[in-house]
Amino acid sequence: MFGSFLQRETTGCATLAARPRCEVCRCPVRACWCKDLQPVETAIEFVILQHPFEARRTVSTGRMACLGVRGAKIFTGLDFTGDRRVNEIIADPDRSVWLLSPGADAVDLASLFHRNDSAVPDVTSEPAGRRTTLIILDGTWAQARRMRRLSVNLHPLRRVALAPAQPSEFAVRRQPEAHCLSTLETIVHCLRVLDGPDPERDRQLMRPMRNMVARQIEIARIAKLEAETGPTCS
Ligand SMILES: [Zn+2]
Repeated sequence: MFGSFLQRETTGCATLAARPRCEVCRCPVRACWCKDLQPVETAIEFVILQHPFEARRTVSTGRMACLGVRGAKIFTGLDFTGDRRVNEIIADPDRSVWLLSPGADAVDLASLFHRNDSAVPDVTSEPAGRRTTLIILDGTWAQARRMRRLSVNLHPLRRVALAPAQPSEFAVRRQPEAHCLSTLETIVHCLRVLDGPDPERDRQLMRPMRNMVARQIEIARIAKLEAETGPTCS
């Protein structure tokens, strides 16, 4: 489901693994995007459950999203049923925990939190002081489905879904449907819904991804040029 350029990147993992990596973003040093990070503040807590394959990708936004939002957490795994950290979050009486996952029983995030529909549960009617926690599955749609199916502790969670108005900007990864977003874009959209519009916050969060996409497109352009005309000198 990915473009030919990305396939060259991912199938070259053995080579990439030997390169020095940034300890923060875990990308090869040459592709490090830490300088573009400017973390944003929010009262919403994001917990990203990352598929092991996603953790190994150079072109991925789960870690970018975790480092871009203060207080966000990221855990890597496939089956979180026995994960103590995740289970503590789910069981915490001071948190109101939701699973962001589309499906027939998922409620639209905007209608839920804006109380446009009195038939859906209203988080504001829950005990005061609870922190809203959103669990997000980071992987392809097939990987996320498998994670949810295997992770029995996620099954009882109330599910919410997004209805993004704009297509994904994550041009180096093909999204399966026009409405599908990368993990970083998903969090940007959640914050628009829950914390209100804030173009500067969106720009801060999106900057590492936009610069990474621009770099990858430029690398692909040079590689294509060199394949056609021989190596360039710069
Ligand atoms: Zn870095």
